[in-house]
Amino acid sequence: MAHGEVRAVNTARVAEALADARSSGDALRLVSGGAWLDANRPVRASSRLELAENRGITAYEPGDLTITARAGTTLREVADTVGAARQWLPLDPYGTDHATVGAIVATGSSGPLATGYGTPRDMTLGCEFVSGSGLVVQAGGRVVKNVAGFDLVRLVTGSWGSLGAITEVTLRLRALPQRDVTIALPLDAGAGAAGIRSLAPLPAAAELLSPRLSERLGFGGVEVLLVRLTGSELAVNAQRSALAALGGAARDEEVDRWAALRAADDHAAAIVRISTLPSELPRTWKLACALTASFTGAWCSAQPVRGVVRLVFPKPGEGDLQWERDLAARLAALTSERMRAIFERLPAALWTTLAPSALGDGLSRGIKERFDPGSILNPGIWGEPA
Ligand SMILES: Cc1cc2nc3c(=O)[nH]c(=O)nc-3n(C[C@H](O)[C@H](O)[C@H](O)COP(=O)(O)OP(=O)(O)OC[C@H]3O[C@@H](n4cnc5c(N)ncnc54)[C@H](O)[C@@H]3O)c2cc1C
Repeated sequence: MAHGEVRAVNTARVAEALADARSSGDALRLVSGGAWLDANRPVRASSRLELAENRGITAYEPGDLTITARAGTTLREVADTVGAARQWLPLDPYGTDHATVGAIVATGSSGPLATGYGTPRDMTLGCEFVSGSGLVVQAGGRVVKNVAGFDLVRLVTGSWGSLGAITEVTLRLRALPQRDVTIALPLDAGAGAAGIRSLAPLPAAAELLSPRLSERLGFGGVEVLLVRLTGSELAVNAQRSALAALGGAARDEEVDRWAALRAADDHAAAIVRISTLPSELPRTWKLACALTASFTGAWCSAQPVRGVVRLVFPKPGEGDLQWERDLAARLAALTSERMRAIFERLPAALWTTLAPSALGDGLSRGIKERFDPGSILNPGIWGEPA
């Protein structure tokens, strides 16, 4: 295969492109919408395999609440198809609804709705992928109750296209809620985090916004807890009363704050996610707010129910090496405080210094070797030695 770009419109073409790559040894960078390619990871591939044109719904069973779509289908297309039957896919990864379902499963990306509905791993019932070794694998199924066995769907979800090129996915849908309400409460992390976890049922989404993010999204620069309640009229009213008891003047939001929140980090140079015990969130939140406040324009948000804090650092001036050095030192100190940091995006030079290779253990290396023996798929994305 010549160096450059190959477009694959169906599974057979994907398999052909991978066979060419195996015989030429010319590694491939998998690309769908191209919005979040490798988060600056140092991928070593001379050619691109474009997968976005392999799109369209292949099966939709409203009665079963499942949909099967080719991997290049966007979230918007899924929403338009299932909305007509008053159903939805409660998945809102950071970015926009132009994201493709194949890439969302490949990256395991989720957003605010993960609080109430889970992550792609919870809603992907099955998928088809072409492994680097050339097998067309049908993993999982098209029904909610599935066969037991080694769960290849979960293995491929979040594998960042390093094991196979996903060609089709089957997703679990939900009925559109009768009510879908967004409320903003000016609460700090201490009161908000504990209160929101005791809400029954749990909210669909709950995000703490740091003062800078609150300013950016039009909440006046005070710490805010943004809550989304979905369900029947009765359930939403009960949740609303419980929220009122937490204190603070609750305000119903008319505009779609969630789309603005998801798109806020469009020009981020670094995004770090810290997972902590939900009960320890106020402490982690304090650290995250202090850290981001010391970098120009940086902010943080948190999902108190999941114990996840997200720190976002916008791009400074081009080639600002001092900024990179400061960031690296502060992030390294943060991770040594026994908090699990997951790097979502980093300046290219920092991947090797901050993020340990995900292929550091024998089991992970063995799986990669088995699925992609020629290392033709996104090589380097997990920080393999060059
Ligand atoms: C402003 C913004 C902020 C974002 N923030 C985050 C964030 O913080 N965390 C996060 O996880 N995501 C984030 N994303 C990514 C986003 O949530 C989706 O994962 C992404 O938009 C997927 O859409 P895409 O089709 O453009 O993917 P692409 O950019 O084309 O691909 C994303 C990755 O998936 C691989 N891939 C693509 N298609 C396939 C396939 N069919 N089979 C196997 N591998 C494939 C690619 O090789 C690449 O590594 C952000 C996106 C935007 C635009």
